[in-house]
Amino acid sequence: MLSPVENLSDNHIQFLRQTLGAEFVSTNASDREYHSHDQSFHHPHLPAAVVFPDSAAQVSAVLKYANEHLIPITGWGAGTSLEGHTIPVLGGIVIDLMRMDKLLRVYDDDFQVDVQAGIKYKDMNLKLAQHGLFFGPDPGANATIGGMIANNASGTRTPGYGATRDNVMRLEVVLANGEIIQTGTRSVKTSSGYDLVHLFIGSEGTLGIITQATLKLYPLPEHFSVVIASFEDIEGATRSVSAIMGAGLHPIALEFLDPYSARVLNTTGEFRLHEKPTLLMEFHSATSHAIEHELALAQELCSDNGCISFEAGVGRAERDRLWKMRHSHYEVLVRTHPGISFLVGDVAVPISRYPELVAACERELLTLGLRGASIVGHAGDGNAHPVVPYLPGDDASHARAEQVFANMVHIALELGGTATGEHGIGIGKIPFMAQEHGNSLAVMRAIKNTLDPNGILNPGKMF
Ligand SMILES: Cc1cc2nc3c(=O)[nH]c(=O)nc-3n(C[C@H](O)[C@H](O)[C@H](O)COP(=O)(O)OP(=O)(O)OC[C@H]3O[C@@H](n4cnc5c(N)ncnc54)[C@H](O)[C@@H]3O)c2cc1C
Repeated sequence: MLSPVENLSDNHIQFLRQTLGAEFVSTNASDREYHSHDQSFHHPHLPAAVVFPDSAAQVSAVLKYANEHLIPITGWGAGTSLEGHTIPVLGGIVIDLMRMDKLLRVYDDDFQVDVQAGIKYKDMNLKLAQHGLFFGPDPGANATIGGMIANNASGTRTPGYGATRDNVMRLEVVLANGEIIQTGTRSVKTSSGYDLVHLFIGSEGTLGIITQATLKLYPLPEHFSVVIASFEDIEGATRSVSAIMGAGLHPIALEFLDPYSARVLNTTGEFRLHEKPTLLMEFHSATSHAIEHELALAQELCSDNGCISFEAGVGRAERDRLWKMRHSHYEVLVRTHPGISFLVGDVAVPISRYPELVAACERELLTLGLRGASIVGHAGDGNAHPVVPYLPGDDASHARAEQVFANMVHIALELGGTATGEHGIGIGKIPFMAQEHGNSLAVMRAIKNTLDPNGILNPGKMF
């Protein structure tokens, strides 16, 4: 069992300074504080030092040294995780990849790109737009590609483009002993060997540090349309999700808002939403004629399920306005509920069970009797984000919120789903690993022990 390392000896610091350059090794209070937490409520813990490498060779040298001296290592992308992933619970060294942020090569004809892991996906997409291309997955925060791969992040566009898992072809990874490996291929198909690319996707920095990736891209679409559909009841809205996905329509995004979330978003003044269960949708098409056809079919399916209002907008500006509003949900919720804090759930089920999941989560939230309880979700992939309020500083209130949070996970698991659709395990979801994975958890542990026998990589996470 690895011991905590709260301070590094002079020898350790000297090694790091010689390897990276003195200005890229920090033990100052502000850098350590900044890298002591993520965006969750989990207790922060200070690292002993933060380093800023600029190459796989430097990452390799740091890992080799840390492995020999049993120093805990935590990878850091943008620190936007929501389950305590980046908290260096045993101190040691945080490796911040912010300097490894280069777009290395675009393969225009293959719709692929090579990038360093520290590039942020929104910045990357701005550069790729010059090539008429983009990367599909879109978590709400401006995360790094390394962090998205490590968490298998997804977002609103998952129904159209899949999760990060579906869009990574090749990886360069530094293992715990400092060895640098390349795995995967740019070939669209391969049957060669174990699929190590997908082993590292979602591994949360516990198996290696990702330094480079080849990503799958898509051509920028020509025609956009968006829909805001409001329903009399939650059942109608959630049933429409299955109907739309099952009818061969291909929404790029299909999001759910409960009435309270619609009310919160109305305070922005951007849209006048009906304060009813609501679906937000986006479609891309090659021709304007195809868009009209898709919208007509979507409207018919929604009407069959009790839709009371179906507003469609066409064009990029309408699309951008809609998602700006949707992505502001959490920030507006926090701003309009002073004195209340929130846990953000992340449960997912097969889409046929989505109505049951949302109904059960609504019932759980009602038991809290607090303002702000609400549900948004990436309905098109069966993912719900119940927002669970509690009174900060009130231990009993926090414990009640945690209980509701746990109840929702158990409900999702019983419906054939998962404890986490996209935020990952980190610290917060560890208690549910055994229930979800059964005896395959032991196989995961064996893989961890093989690749990181000293347990230096992101200790205290996942298991
Ligand atoms: C407002 C907001 C909205 C969000 N919306 C979504 C959403 O819609 N969908 C979604 O999936 N997530 C969402 N998230 C969560 C978060 O943005 C994602 O999980 C994202 O993938 C984290 O990326 P990051 O660069 O911030 O990684 P970090 O938080 O820095 O790190 C994530 C994990 O990966 C490890 N890690 C980081 N870089 C590497 C690397 N190069 N190699 C190996 N391990 C590494 C870290 O040690 C940590 O365990 C949201 C977060 C916020 C704050």
